Amino acid sequence: MEKEARVSNAPISVRSFHMEGDAFRWDDVDVKEYRKVGDFFRDINKQVFFDGEHGLSCELRYFEVKPGGYSSLELHEHVHGVLILRGHGRVLAYSDRGSHIQDIGEHDVVHVPPHTWHQFQAAEDEHLGFLCLVENERDRPRRPTEEEKEALRADPTIGDYVRL
Ligand code: MN
Repeated sequence: MEKEARVSNAPISVRSFHMEGDAFRWDDVDVKEYRKVGDFFRDINKQVFFDGEHGLSCELRYFEVKPGGYSSLELHEHVHGVLILRGHGRVLAYSDRGSHIQDIGEHDVVHVPPHTWHQFQAAEDEHLGFLCLVENERDRPRRPTEEEKEALRADPTIGDYVRL
């Protein structure tokens, strides 16, 4: 049977996956900076699959952290639904309900509740790639104050691991 390309009038869109060097990529999806400014994150970028349109009132993003990299330690009201797609690393969390650090790997699922400091870190020898689902309407993340940084560094569970 002859293969037909029917891109323009297709009832669905499929963005095919491919590797680009050692990076996960999807056709027609731009690789974006994780944050515009700051030195509190390292070697992380993002690709946005759904951006609040397409009849979905949420955003689905893929974050890829290179070995040794990490996301910014941040706090916000909105929640994250996270699924690890690639590699391994760890997640740190801190709130008035306690602190936590846990190794995470492919196919693990992480729920980050409201008002919880959180940070994702790739292992030293492996990428960490994860899908992150957020509501379209959401508050902006905030960074810790100097006082909060001191409390985070003094925490017996995550203090030695948190990157600020
Ligand atoms: Mn966050």
